[in-house]
Order: sequence, then C-alpha cells, then structure tokens
Amino acid sequence: MHELAAVKSMIRIIEYECAKNSIMRAVMINVELGVLTTYRKDAVEYYFKIIADEKPLLKDAVLNIKIVNGVLECKDCAGRVEISDPHLLICPKCDSIDVHIIEGNDLRVLNIHGEKDV
Ligand SMILES: [Zn+2]
Repeated sequence: MHELAAVKSMIRIIEYECAKNSIMRAVMINVELGVLTTYRKDAVEYYFKIIADEKPLLKDAVLNIKIVNGVLECKDCAGRVEISDPHLLICPKCDSIDVHIIEGNDLRVLNIHGEKDV
C-alpha cells in the first residue's frame, strides 16, 4: 500500500522532467527500484498504471523497472559490499551491524523517452 505514495512522488518527478524537456507524451520511462526498499515491483506497476491512465502525458508510457542491488558501507571495517537480500543488513566481512546504506533504498527515475511538441 505504501507503494502508492512512492509512485505519486515518482510521477511528480516524471512530470517535472517532461515539462522541463518539452515532452508532451512519454513513451518509455526507465526507473530503478532498489532491493532495500520495501516496495514490490508489481505494486509499483499497478499504481503507476492507475494514475497514468488519467494523464495524457503518461497514458501510453511503458514503465520499465530495473531491480538493483543495495550497497552497504560498514562503519567498522570501512568495507563496501553489494547485497541482494534486504533482510541481511550486516557486513559480510566482519559481521558488524553498524552499516550504512549507500544505494538501493529508493525508487529512482533514470530517464524518460517521449515525443516532443512540434
Ligand atoms: Zn565490516
């Protein structure tokens, strides 16, 4: 259910970027979904479809979601490690739980392809 808020803010970013680049109709939107978020890909797709259907800008756009691993930095050994399991927030090198998430905890718009106003 909390995907709805994430999708709404993602759409605000998409609308802003489209306006900035004079895109009148988005065709493909590439986004990254980090494994450390608790968002489910199918729920993001579902809410996007519902909201996009109401908007001429996004109506026919394809949302392409790429799942990306998380990256942790360990505060004890300073190591950086890529992880794919959001339930294991520990450093695999020294077993410290004092880790800091560097990447993989957001839903990020990478780029938007669309048709410009002519
Ligand atoms: Zn460590």
